[in-house]
Formats: sequence, structure tokens, C-alpha cells
Amino acid sequence: MPISTPNLIYSGKAKDIFETDDPTVLRAYFRDSATAFNAQKKGEIHDKGKINATISALLFQLCEKNGIKTHFVKQSSDRELLVKRVNIIPIEVIVRNIAAGSLCKRLAIKEGKVLKEPIVEFSYKNDELGDPLLTRAYIKIALEITDDKTLDEITNLTLKANEIFKEFFLKVGIKVVDFKLEYGFDKDNDLLLADELSPDNFRFWDAKTNEKLDKDRFRQDLGNVESAYQEVLKRVKEEAKNILS
Ligand code: 5GP
Repeated sequence: MPISTPNLIYSGKAKDIFETDDPTVLRAYFRDSATAFNAQKKGEIHDKGKINATISALLFQLCEKNGIKTHFVKQSSDRELLVKRVNIIPIEVIVRNIAAGSLCKRLAIKEGKVLKEPIVEFSYKNDELGDPLLTRAYIKIALEITDDKTLDEITNLTLKANEIFKEFFLKVGIKVVDFKLEYGFDKDNDLLLADELSPDNFRFWDAKTNEKLDKDRFRQDLGNVESAYQEVLKRVKEEAKNILS
């Protein structure tokens, strides 16, 4: 997709966002490009765009079915979603069930430690600063991004989504280790779950073997990246058939 396309409004690390004829609806085009470590590592994962668009579509529908409002409108092609236009809150909302990634680095905790209860944490969505961890005071007072009420609402929705995802993925033999969500407000000021729901922003481990089935395969050069993404898609599709029909 050429960058000069007139209605391209945003080009992210893995998605391009276009305007549509309806000013309240955008088209998210999922590319195969992959980045890690704040885009210091770059590559391509064959068919990732199609896989992630489809997994996202199914998981957004799972959320909607369980009462979580999302920006999802419909999957308009194998690698495109139509989504409601939202003003994204520049906070990455991360949930952790099992220690991995930056939590292990920051606190010298062993990867795989099952946490006593889920942790919700916030990072600043800012590549130049390397997405730093935020406290509530940083969010409310230093950056003036949002208030306690919205942060409470986001936290509750995120914990609810975590329970929905954990239950869904357990049925297909996958542990939800951690994930990152983004939220935004639509034109009616409704808070909607936005962005994507895929192995790019979730850590998934096979429940029996603990094999990694997510972007850590790319980050850590573990090989078989595409087949891991395909495996998640296959299992999500199977279970979604039972739940979303
Ligand atoms: P960590 O903080 O351990 O690096 O990441 C925690 C979880 O959030 C992981 O599932 C990871 O994939 C996701 N995550 C954290 N930051 C980002 C980000 O900037 N982009 C994406 N796509 N996922 C992220």
C-alpha cells in the first residue's frame, strides 16, 4: 500500500488505517511486517496480516458477546477490518497472568511464575520514549491523559476481558500469559476496546508443552513463527465456531 494513498490517515508498525466513505468508520489493513524491541528488529511474517485480522475479528466478537464494547464493525477482507473511529487513549494497558517479558527483566522474576492474581499495568504509548511504565499520578497529573474514573473503567474492562480470554483459550489448550490492550472514545464518548487482539500483542503458551505461540518466536529467533500464528488461528476458529454461531 503506497504511503501517498489519499485517505491513509495512519501507518503503524503492523497496520495501515484508512478513512472510508463513512466518517465514523475506518478501515484497518493488517500488513505482514513485524517489529520488536521498539522497531529495532524488523522483519516479515508470511500471511501474518491475514491471520491477525481474522483472529482479531473473532476475539472482538467474543468480547462483544460478553458485553465488552469494541471498535469492531466487520471483517471486510482477509486482511482488513472495518472499525469505529475512536480517539485512542495513548496508554498501553497490559495484563499479566504469568511472568514473562519486561516483568521478568524489571524485577528479576523467573519466566513462567504463575502470578497470585492478574496484574494490570499502564505504559505510555510513545515509541520515542520506549513506552515507559506509568503510575496513576503520571497519567493524571504529569501527562494529564485521563482521570481516575476512566482508569477504573479501563481496569475493570481489562480484567473482565482477561477472564473471557483465559476461559476461551483454555478450551483450546492455550495459556494466556499476558497481553496489551488499547482503548479509545468514539464520537458518542463511549469507551471502546480498540487496536487488535492477536499473537502480536498477546503471549500464548501451549497448555501442555509451554511452547510459545506468539511474537516471542520472532523476538527471540525461535523459528516456526508463521506456523505458531497459524496454530493459534486454527484453534481460535474451532472454538469460535461453537461460541459465536
Ligand atoms: P512486555 O511488557 O512483557 O514486553 O509485554 C507484555 C505484553 O504486552 C506482551 O504480550 C506483549 O506482546 C504486549 N506488548 C507490550 N508492548 C507492546 C507494543 O508496543 N506493541 C504490541 N503489539 N504489543 C505489546
